[in-house]
Amino acid sequence: MGKIEFFQQVNQNFDRAAKHVRHPEGLLRQIKACNATYRMAFPLKRDDGSIEVIFAWRAEHSQHKLPTKGGVRFADNVNEDEIKALAALMTYKCAVVNVPFGGAKGGIQIDRHKYSDSELERITRRYTYELVKKNFLGPGIDVPAPDYGTSAREMAWMADTYIQLHPGQLDAPACVTGKPTSLGGVRGRKEATGHGVFFGIREACRIAEDLHPLGLSTGLEGKRIVIQGLGNVGYHAARFLEQGGAKIIAIAEHNGAITCEQGLDIEKVKQHHLEHGTVLDFPGATNIPDTADALELECDILVPAALENQITLSNVDRIRAKIVAEAANGPTTADASEELEKRGVLVIPDIYLNAGGVTVSYFEWLKNLSHVRFGRLSKRFEENTNTTILREVERMTGKQIPGEMLTRLAHGADEEDLVNSGLEETMISSYHEIREIKKKQDGGIDLRTAGFIGSIDKIARCYLDLGIFP
Ligand code: NAD
Repeated sequence: MGKIEFFQQVNQNFDRAAKHVRHPEGLLRQIKACNATYRMAFPLKRDDGSIEVIFAWRAEHSQHKLPTKGGVRFADNVNEDEIKALAALMTYKCAVVNVPFGGAKGGIQIDRHKYSDSELERITRRYTYELVKKNFLGPGIDVPAPDYGTSAREMAWMADTYIQLHPGQLDAPACVTGKPTSLGGVRGRKEATGHGVFFGIREACRIAEDLHPLGLSTGLEGKRIVIQGLGNVGYHAARFLEQGGAKIIAIAEHNGAITCEQGLDIEKVKQHHLEHGTVLDFPGATNIPDTADALELECDILVPAALENQITLSNVDRIRAKIVAEAANGPTTADASEELEKRGVLVIPDIYLNAGGVTVSYFEWLKNLSHVRFGRLSKRFEENTNTTILREVERMTGKQIPGEMLTRLAHGADEEDLVNSGLEETMISSYHEIREIKKKQDGGIDLRTAGFIGSIDKIARCYLDLGIFP
């Protein structure tokens, strides 16, 4: 099989959906096009004094809404095609979950394990400086976030660099999301993508009409799940799924996989992974030395949460999951996805399922612009009101509510409560939105195509309301 062009894969999905919408051809071409790409090369003075050239990109796929939004990844195989594809996915994803941003993505072509912390800091700060120079960064322009290989630490360096270059700009911290809470981050962001994956899978598993044809009962309880990638998204998704009653029967990492039919203890596997750099040899589990084999295990739900192009025409025939829940971006190629659809596998698509990250990033951006923590003004008021009501109930019934219960019932929503509630609402309502689109097409399309149809219509509306395409 030839090299898989990721952007072409995204466009293939777009084209499938475009057959079901009625918009001018030129407008569809505009929506599909990547608006701006900045490719850069800059020097890094390594700790040993040698000079290395670092290659990096930022792509802003669609500016129909501003700012544009999307993560920055550090990976040694990052390339322009991949960044444009991921930026495009961000455009459609934001539209699916009604987050008012255009799509963007950035990447630095490095294996982060081969650099010291201070080298990574110099690379990140220089990348930020390059973005500022070309006006590719800012609270109203383009707002990065963590992605594969990056975390709150890199976002802190980016925010700090931007803030130093814009003295007195009150909204400057809103230039990136996924920051540590001490620097304006929002509680719940770190786990948001995995948490959203959990809400999405749970919602899909509530619908008997969809689950029974797969031979599955409703609910998460006892569902046998395989997770690929125990990083930010995979770990948190696995943790929430386990708490929700599912059994994680296998975990695959880049250097090996493990399986255990009784279910793996996620927290313990994570600890083992941190200590040994591998999930292999986890006590009580069986090793799967070729990690790709884990995708082919018989299971109810397969959650690819690592990288793109994991399920392709070369292995799709051996995938035995009843549900493929795409936590990663682009884990299934367009052709492989069609094959799964033909076989009746329920594919919960990336443009919906991993949108929890950008949803909570939106909340963080709003927090930064409003300069106040969610719940700060209302928490105590809610608590006082709830306590007054509960005291009145006690007076009317003549029964005393136990202290612990009173505290729990009177609790006013704090930042984390509000963020998680906003995330849950977004994931539930968006699932039904795309499912309704699918139903309107008499079920003749899959959920991915339904998601794209909804996105295309929403983005087209922005252009049409400008009168650009009469
Ligand atoms: P991460 O770097 O935290 O974790 C990725 C994990 O996958 C790592 O532990 C890595 O070792 C593992 N991995 C790499 N290749 C593998 C392979 N072949 N088999 C098994 N495991 C492998 O990255 P992340 O932030 O968790 O991102 C994972 C995916 O989710 C990416 O596609 C990313 O674009 C997508 N995503 C991330 C976010 C976010 O908020 N971080 C949001 C939306 C989508």
